[in-house]
Amino acid sequence: MTVSLPQQPSNAMRDNITITHSLTHNLLAWFTENQRPLPWRKKYSPYHVWIVEIMGQQTQMERVVTYFKNWIKQFPDIPTLAAASEQEVIKAWEGLGYYSRVRNIRKTATILMQEYGGKVPDNEVQLLALPGIGPYTAAALLSIAFNRPVPLVDANVERVICRLDDIDQPVKQAATRKLLIQRCAELLPQENARDFNQALMEFGALICTPKKPACSTCPVQQYCQAYQKDIVDLRPIPGKKKKQLDIFMACGIIQHSNRFYIQQRLENDVWGGLWEFPGGRIKEGESSEQAAVREIREETEFQVTDLRPLATVVHYYTKYRVTLDAFFCTLQDSRKKIQPEPVLHAASQYKWVTFNELPTFAFPAGHRQLIEKLG
Ligand code: SF4
Repeated sequence: MTVSLPQQPSNAMRDNITITHSLTHNLLAWFTENQRPLPWRKKYSPYHVWIVEIMGQQTQMERVVTYFKNWIKQFPDIPTLAAASEQEVIKAWEGLGYYSRVRNIRKTATILMQEYGGKVPDNEVQLLALPGIGPYTAAALLSIAFNRPVPLVDANVERVICRLDDIDQPVKQAATRKLLIQRCAELLPQENARDFNQALMEFGALICTPKKPACSTCPVQQYCQAYQKDIVDLRPIPGKKKKQLDIFMACGIIQHSNRFYIQQRLENDVWGGLWEFPGGRIKEGESSEQAAVREIREETEFQVTDLRPLATVVHYYTKYRVTLDAFFCTLQDSRKKIQPEPVLHAASQYKWVTFNELPTFAFPAGHRQLIEKLG
């Protein structure tokens, strides 16, 4: 009869375990000393973590801090947020872009009031059922707000792990992602996921940066395979770059009786709920002026004439670069009425507003630039 003895870890396995522990320890020690005093780090309120995680998508940290402080001043808790109007929350979000995020925040706040007593749940299934909360945000909430041992992989973490472990496959591939989550789970201390996940992200943002990482002062340099092989600049291996697409648009600034015509975009449209000057895409063979006249007619049934250029502005939206030509224009046959009524075909409502009232409405980036030019 053979008796199987319990397997002893090999020297290589023991070395790996030691490296993993040291890596985790060094990163946590670095975070304790060097973390930025961000406003949501005082209490780690689940409400604060939720808002900041949604704001932080595609947004730089300095901007997130400014918007977060203003947001919390205006909506200090979930009941206040749930009671706010859509226009109030969109206005507070103005400039952050991707407005479906803020509409989802408002919907979620209502659900939290109706079903969870005004609290963010600490359960993955319940979190994933809420509007705007996907696997990453759920993992961020569970680990950062509730300190649960859930790994978290954002772009900073991808870069750090790819360099530390010299991962030589494109970072955005599904297999690479699986590997990264697995490695983060190995490194994650069960009792301190909140600090460790933030340590990795903060370390990627401040030390192991995309360009010119501070390798000479790096607290985990001795464990970094890319550094030892002198290939830091080659890690991570990028995925295919998305092609930028150009869109050309034209719009009209209709001024009448010292007021400007603005309209609110339809809810399920791009930039739904935001306000704009009427306009749209320039068709092939059309000039900007012709496009502005046609779009205004199609959207409002207003006839405009006497177009004079105001400005051309460029802004970016996901993979698009939008070039917008704007024209002052005059309404035909509008002398009888102080505030002529449009027939709306592409908007939910309209207003005639003074110049001073314009900043009280939320506009997409391009139209906000136009308002600055008007000033
Ligand atoms: Fe990043 Fe350089 Fe440290 Fe490696 S040695 S983890 S590349 S900062």
